[in-house]
Amino acid sequence: MNMFLRLNPANSAAGFSLLPNSLKKGVRIVKIQESGENYLETVLILEKKNGTVRSVDVANYLGVSKPSVSRAMSVLKKAGLISQESYGDIYLTEAGRQKAEAVLHRHRLISKFLRLSVGIDEETADRDACRIEHVISDATEDGMRRYVAELEKEKA
Ligand SMILES: [Zn+2]
Repeated sequence: MNMFLRLNPANSAAGFSLLPNSLKKGVRIVKIQESGENYLETVLILEKKNGTVRSVDVANYLGVSKPSVSRAMSVLKKAGLISQESYGDIYLTEAGRQKAEAVLHRHRLISKFLRLSVGIDEETADRDACRIEHVISDATEDGMRRYVAELEKEKA
């Protein structure tokens, strides 16, 4: 996989932005921000649930307008993360799917961690997880994973 996806908290004006990095030859660095990750995650969740994904479903799920979804999808399409014929169904590309799966995986881990470690209710844990998932380091994620595994071992 020759694509790196990184958070770009400094660049929030447009919601998210894509900056191809020409410093490393042959390596394309795409930066997508929090909202881009949330859109990818949502496309994956809706795909698992409904089979096909339409813009209107994404808009309803996230509580955003259809023009916002269109804008986000055109950026994700340029980044090679989704494919969509004009106003047609939305499909994840292989790179998009990898990214979406990683975000969803992190979401589930964080939600579980919040519920098991400090007893947060599921709804709050999910809401918080969907924000925390974009900003934690790999080290924190690993720590949470070990902690959850320990707790589950104790319970078993
Ligand atoms: Zn999430």
